[in-house]
Amino acid sequence: RCARFISSFRADDLHITLTDKPKPKPSDDNLPFGKNTSDHMFEVDYTPALGWSRPVIRPVEPLKIHPAAKVLHYAQELFEGMKCYRCVDGKIRMFRPMENLNRMERSAVRSGFPPFDRFELLKIIKKLINIEQEWVPYSKNCSLYIRPTMIATEPCLGVTQSADSKLYVITGPTGAYFPTGMKAIRLLADPQYVRAWPGGCGGFKMGSNYAPTVAPLFQAQKELNCQSILWLFGDDHQMTEAGTMNLFVLWTNENGEEELVTPPLEGGLILPGVTRKSVLEVVREWNEIKVTEEVITMGAFIKALNEGRVKEVFGSGTASIVCPVGQILYKGQELHITDTEDVGPLTKRIYNHINEIHYYMKPHPWMESI
Ligand code: PMP
Repeated sequence: RCARFISSFRADDLHITLTDKPKPKPSDDNLPFGKNTSDHMFEVDYTPALGWSRPVIRPVEPLKIHPAAKVLHYAQELFEGMKCYRCVDGKIRMFRPMENLNRMERSAVRSGFPPFDRFELLKIIKKLINIEQEWVPYSKNCSLYIRPTMIATEPCLGVTQSADSKLYVITGPTGAYFPTGMKAIRLLADPQYVRAWPGGCGGFKMGSNYAPTVAPLFQAQKELNCQSILWLFGDDHQMTEAGTMNLFVLWTNENGEEELVTPPLEGGLILPGVTRKSVLEVVREWNEIKVTEEVITMGAFIKALNEGRVKEVFGSGTASIVCPVGQILYKGQELHITDTEDVGPLTKRIYNHINEIHYYMKPHPWMESI
């Protein structure tokens, strides 16, 4: 029989095996991020001779990969993080999924993974969510997190593009980011740690960006009472991102204008967050304050802070929507923006607006039916 090369997997070819041992579902008030996976996963493999294999949805089980698989040695991996929500009309919807799948494709190209049809992957993810629909929490502010992943599976220790790849998707219920109300966090800004640099991969969602952040984060949390890290770049200590969130500053600029600023994507230091893009679009649509994508240095920030011009600082991401920043620890200096309990009005307004879109309290084209 003549083998046919498959240039993308197709949703119509899905083979589905359902579990006969569904797991008990955790309670919605105990859903720490990333701890629980649902019953089923999507999986498809690529080999150079045959292209993509038949796509399957099957019960979640450990993967069997060779110990020489490249992903285990050189971190040839990428991932995405997106959510679907049980909306107020009872329907389940995803938030801007093509934004994530477009970013996934860019990460795949940069990582040397084979191409695939993003629209077919979206159809398959919707099918998976349909199968897992009882895993989508019923509680307000909870959601089902979706984690598409690609790994290099070729069992060969050479540092080269992997012949074989696996693409899979797991999902899991996730709880409210602010279970006891929104609280501002404290960030460590330590220029000795750099997350991304020009020509590097900070603009892509590759696992290799995250492993080096774990030890500094542990130190920041355990020794310095900071919840996350403000990543700085360059001799002028540009503020780039806050942990795994994009960074926004609301201030009165040097010209006396109220301005919402976030660092620019050009230069490759910033992950192009779907929430970042959404915040920019929402606030631009309100058309009440100036919105700018521009470098913010620690020098300019501290000057504005000393002159009483900094109004709000927040991070943005799929996990929290927005998360206020109250303090920054920089070179042993305590930069006070707000008290932990104080949440700025713009931060709160953006949170409420996007949260209402997520649950379809405000019907919005960003929400996509499954
Ligand atoms: N920056 C980094 C480094 C991240 O890992 C994430 C999470 N994906 C974000 C920003 C926020 O991106 P998004 O809004 O797409 O979740």
